[in-house]
Amino acid sequence: MGRIVGIDLGTTNSVIGVLEAGRPFVIANAEGSRTTPSVIGYNKDSELLVGQQARRQLVLNPKNTFSNLKRFVGRTWQELDENSLNVAYTVRANDQECVRVICPVTEREYAPEELIGSIIRKLIDDAEKYLGESIDSAVITVPAYFNDSQRQATRDSALLAGIRVERILNEPTAAALAYGFDKSSSSRVLVFDLGGGTFDISLLQISNGVFDVKATSGDTQLGGNDFDQKIVDWLANEFYNEHKIDLRRDRQSLQRLSEAAEKAKQELSGLQTTPISLPFIATGSNGPLHIEAKLDRKKFEYLCTDLIDRLSIPVENVLRDSGWSAEDINDVVLVGGSTRMPMVQQFIRTIVPITPSQSVNPDEVVAVGAAVQAGIISGELRDLLLNDVTPLSLGLETVGGLMKVLIPRNTPIPVRQADVFSTSEANQSSVEINVWQGERQLANDNKSLGKFKLSGIPPAPRGVPQVQVAFDIDANGLLQVSATDRTTGRKQSVSINGGSNLNENEVAKLIKDARDKADIDRKKRASIDQRNNALTLVAQAERKLRDVSLEFGPYGAERQQRAVEVALRDVQEFLDNDDLVELDMAVSSLQEALFGLNRRISAEKRTDNNPIQGIKNTFGSLKDELFSDDYWDDDPWDYSQNDNGRYNRRELDRRELDRRELDRRELDRWDNDFYN
Ligand code: AMP
Repeated sequence: MGRIVGIDLGTTNSVIGVLEAGRPFVIANAEGSRTTPSVIGYNKDSELLVGQQARRQLVLNPKNTFSNLKRFVGRTWQELDENSLNVAYTVRANDQECVRVICPVTEREYAPEELIGSIIRKLIDDAEKYLGESIDSAVITVPAYFNDSQRQATRDSALLAGIRVERILNEPTAAALAYGFDKSSSSRVLVFDLGGGTFDISLLQISNGVFDVKATSGDTQLGGNDFDQKIVDWLANEFYNEHKIDLRRDRQSLQRLSEAAEKAKQELSGLQTTPISLPFIATGSNGPLHIEAKLDRKKFEYLCTDLIDRLSIPVENVLRDSGWSAEDINDVVLVGGSTRMPMVQQFIRTIVPITPSQSVNPDEVVAVGAAVQAGIISGELRDLLLNDVTPLSLGLETVGGLMKVLIPRNTPIPVRQADVFSTSEANQSSVEINVWQGERQLANDNKSLGKFKLSGIPPAPRGVPQVQVAFDIDANGLLQVSATDRTTGRKQSVSINGGSNLNENEVAKLIKDARDKADIDRKKRASIDQRNNALTLVAQAERKLRDVSLEFGPYGAERQQRAVEVALRDVQEFLDNDDLVELDMAVSSLQEALFGLNRRISAEKRTDNNPIQGIKNTFGSLKDELFSDDYWDDDPWDYSQNDNGRYNRRELDRRELDRRELDRRELDRWDNDFYN
């Protein structure tokens, strides 16, 4: 089995980890950062940008830059709340009520899963480069409170990135794994996970490598973004009251407001008050308008009281479901950047009055736990056992639209549960199995996961046929449903996979497209990389030539300087002509020439510091000749200047080389006599 990585696919940031020599660690991305912004964008040339590059164009190109996509994953249009739609890009429902993101520059609409697939691909590409081997599978974390559709959709995103999902792991469970995988003591742990877009809370019993999740709860539409939104609304309302302009209607202003709000929020985690300055945010009848405001922590906390109240509902649920009281909890693990807010920490202290564990980094702990789980799957880590639970109840719709629960929430997974149902009318030849997930009594108030028909039931009075319906939840929390007519043995089973914003055919088509395009993309990326590397080298060479001229004069290391200049001109010429085959060779020559120049400079510096140099200088013209560039190696090329001021690139003839060889021997002799 190849290497399996662990991926924390966050609303705001994503992180990738791997197990190396039995220890989990986080892999930095190509930009050198351990977290990658979960942002995707297209620039004006329709080039795909992922992570920091995309984040950088959020304000200037808001229509083509997509953040917070995790809130749309596996959700239908009707399920979205107003806050989720408060984004600077355009989102719409297609005719099947699936969420689509509009990208004007590529003139295409995307399913959120497709865009998230690009984030996964970037994480994998960077990790492959770092590890020097290819990766084809991963453990991917999701909020514990994600329903079946959201899990299926996450798996689809990975499929679109060409990655097999070995396990879908709940984020708080991953955090607990990271916290406890090397601890032998027994403890009861509360994991409080408040990220950018989701909130999860889990209670676990950890003892001797066995991780038992007792209960989990959460809110998949509550996170740091909602706290930002409070500041955005406050600023926008004040501005509206003063100038009668709603800044939220302008994409660029909205994006600038959101960025300033997030910054202010983060600063208020350390400071009591913070200034917010947004010059030229709009134009009024008398010219440009600015925001110059001050927000203090007390006011911010006042604005967010309802959000803190919302946190308490899942907390109460989880304590009730586990049967534990606050006193039973030995440790609290904080996960997610939003747990840095003092009001959140105070809230947690009101539930469990102990100091949270400091042993884990809230930004990386989930990816580290995913890497541990990857190690368990690959067999690298033994003696660890994870028993997770299903977050939400699963059931069927019965007569009167009621929900009949087959698997209650917080049941340990994997699990299989079956029940027998019958017909509601005489001679009914088929039954419709309608699968729901959620905690409400009426099926309609819950989330429909899909429906299917079992037909061919022999005619019989109402209530006589016996249809056995079985639910299977695997270790990923994914559901399979089957129905069997006990009289005929006829069986119908389905994997519930209608949850994603993409149907099976669309996923298959996108994967095929991606495969077809992969080769073209790879070549395109390779040529872009090649050009970029060449440009970087050109800049380095130009800088070096300038520095050397300044330090040693234009003829200080003349031959090596000329060699760099000639190679530099070649590289530039091939870059201009887009001749990538020749470019490779020219780049190698330039690297060699730079190496020669560096070697020459360091030798020059060494002799400069040498007291004997003083004596050497007295040799005047003799020194000039003996230390001339021609003696450094037997390069058969002439780099002197011709009459037009251009440099020669002429191969020296045999006689000239022989003459130089004689001179070289003379120099060696002189060297020996002089230094010994
Ligand atoms: P995560 O999903 O764990 O990357 O968390 C991202 C969320 O944490 C974003 O909403 C950030 O604004 C928020 N965050 C990060 N650092 C801080 C901080 N110092 N104070 C408040 N919120 C923060």
